[in-house]
Amino acid sequence: MTQILNQEHVNQAAEWLRSAQKIVILTHMAPDGDAMGSALAMYHFLTGLQSSIFNLQSSSLEGRSGGVRVTLITPNSFPAFFNWMPGADKVCIYESAPQKCDEIIAQADLFICTDFNDPKRINPAGDKMAANPAPKIVFDHHILVPDTPLSNPQTPVLMFSLPSSSSACEVVFRFMSQLSTINSQLSTEIATCLYTGLMTDTGNFSYNSTNCELYEIVAELIRAGARKDEIYNAVFNQYSVDKVRLAGYALYRKMRIYPEYHLALITLTADELDLYHYQTGDTEGLVNEPLQIASVHYSVFMREERAKPGTTRSRIRISFRSQGDRPVNVWASEVFHGGGHANASGGEMFGSIPQAVRLFEQSFPKYIKKE
Ligand code: 5GP
Ligand code: MN
Repeated sequence: MTQILNQEHVNQAAEWLRSAQKIVILTHMAPDGDAMGSALAMYHFLTGLQSSIFNLQSSSLEGRSGGVRVTLITPNSFPAFFNWMPGADKVCIYESAPQKCDEIIAQADLFICTDFNDPKRINPAGDKMAANPAPKIVFDHHILVPDTPLSNPQTPVLMFSLPSSSSACEVVFRFMSQLSTINSQLSTEIATCLYTGLMTDTGNFSYNSTNCELYEIVAELIRAGARKDEIYNAVFNQYSVDKVRLAGYALYRKMRIYPEYHLALITLTADELDLYHYQTGDTEGLVNEPLQIASVHYSVFMREERAKPGTTRSRIRISFRSQGDRPVNVWASEVFHGGGHANASGGEMFGSIPQAVRLFEQSFPKYIKKE
């Protein structure tokens, strides 16, 4: 396999990992399979019996006195269909324990950031992380957001980011492979977590997955114990009745097609979500559904979150998806304060669903092609 990551940076990261005592792993808001997989894989890598990986100059994690504390923090809760992931029960959720997490972040002597490079995507934890000058290692596959504490060359940051790769999990795998000859030593836990991210970020290998090396990685992960069919079943076939009915309602009653633009829009208000007892993750994947229609090449989904106490306006979360050479990230970034990949982006605005739809309808002719 091609060694794509800068080997000097890999060696430097190994040094940082070896000398750190209080490591904090962070991943992005509303964690998806890639976020959970990459963060948990690093968690297992650092806490498990993987210390042999650090055979570089015979120093090892286990060999250090005093023990090493590794904490994985997600900004908010993750969907229940990731509860089965090894280590998911160890995750600290910032939103549920902000003071405790602030303390852990303030004490950290090394940060590992996975599946994001803009600290704003993990706020308020991002600001707290930026306030701590400890070194940071990033494993990501998004275009680098400029002018952030993670993109500042003056700060100690090692950025392992391959925007052309399938997933942050692929980047983590490549990192682990370049650390030493560890493929045969990948634990089942690490392999399971990494496979989960590869699978979810490629829609079970239906997009972003033409690079043949990806299948070499899959082979390694299966060899190391990842049970691919069971992982698929655990993630995609364990939904609640409400989630499936909500998707049915959204497609039947709430999908609007703009035929000249090959565009679909689905919106769900907070009241509608209440009717189906919405839980985190219940609308995951919904934005992809309209792309099954032959004439639809762009799909947008808007979800209303009620105003938080002390605020007046709802937050509208917006997901953008497209197929082929039809980027949506500039639209997401310029109009909806977000960004992302060319074919999968996100953003937000504050206001009502009708206001968001108005902004959407005013802006799409500028950003998408009439074909
Ligand atoms: P989703 O629609 O699943 O929430 O997000 C799809 C992709 O868009 C994510 O994987 C991420 O790359 C990107 N994304 C989502 N929300 C944001 C955002 O607020 N800012 C940026 N820069 N990217 C986002
Ligand atoms: Mn990802």
